[in-house]
Amino acid sequence: MVRSVEEEEPRLPAEPVPIRTPRVEVADDVTALHAASVGLEDGRVITGESRQRVLLFTFDDGPERRTTPLLLDALDRYGVKAVFFVTVDRLDGPGNRIIEQRELLKEIVRRGHVIGNHTVTHQQLPLMTTTAITEELDHADRVLEELVGIRPRLFRPPGGSRSPRADRILADRGYTQMLWSHGTGDFQVDAADDVESIFRRVLDRREREEGVRGGIVLMHDTHPWSVAAFPRIMQMLESRNCELLAQGEELYDVVGDPALFYEARDGAEPGTMAPSLELPAAVHEHRQELRRAEARARCEATLASR
Ligand SMILES: [Zn+2]
Repeated sequence: MVRSVEEEEPRLPAEPVPIRTPRVEVADDVTALHAASVGLEDGRVITGESRQRVLLFTFDDGPERRTTPLLLDALDRYGVKAVFFVTVDRLDGPGNRIIEQRELLKEIVRRGHVIGNHTVTHQQLPLMTTTAITEELDHADRVLEELVGIRPRLFRPPGGSRSPRADRILADRGYTQMLWSHGTGDFQVDAADDVESIFRRVLDRREREEGVRGGIVLMHDTHPWSVAAFPRIMQMLESRNCELLAQGEELYDVVGDPALFYEARDGAEPGTMAPSLELPAAVHEHRQELRRAEARARCEATLASR
């Protein structure tokens, strides 16, 4: 996660993509509570690993007016809820770009996704002074609270970069850090095919070598190739589920609730890691039954159309 690479200006379509749904104010308290992950404060550091084939999608560094609207539509098409770790310098200041992105943040919330803090300037916290970190967090809290109504409880450190000092500052403010287990390398490539194939390799390797079959996926909604890769990844998972169904194996299950990965810190040291996700057996089996029913209908239709 090298910042200079991650922050390269992506090649983008010339015109901003309009937001197709009507813009509404985020006034609904329940929506805001969900978006801010209220209840998930002061948790252990989430790694996202799971031995179950459960996946949560997360998108960092946005919102970006030229790419995020397309992603929101794709997420709706696949019925997926995600977590957006936003960079607040995209939401604060003068100009049309900022105004549109502030509206876009509200749209993300309105569509039922969760917002997390990814700092203002995307610097690695361990390289900053304590005062500078505190100022960034105050600034981010102020802007996000103004837009969402409540400040987010989830935080993702830029570059995944942590230190005991930064962990303590974040814990003192009640943040829960969410890392990731499945990178897509989308900050190193510039084609949707590459993003999909890197994700597929990571998914396979983690399962084969470590028994980690699911977890938290990291993508960046600032890159057009990442946004284009998301539907391909979903199609890949759907076609895998057809094979897994035929083999009588556990299916991939895309979840939208970060609470599943959360564990309260409960007095443990700030950098203490949360255990890997394990859905209770009854919940897991119930969800798998739903996935199998979906897959049965979809996979048979696909086979019949060939
Ligand atoms: Zn980032």
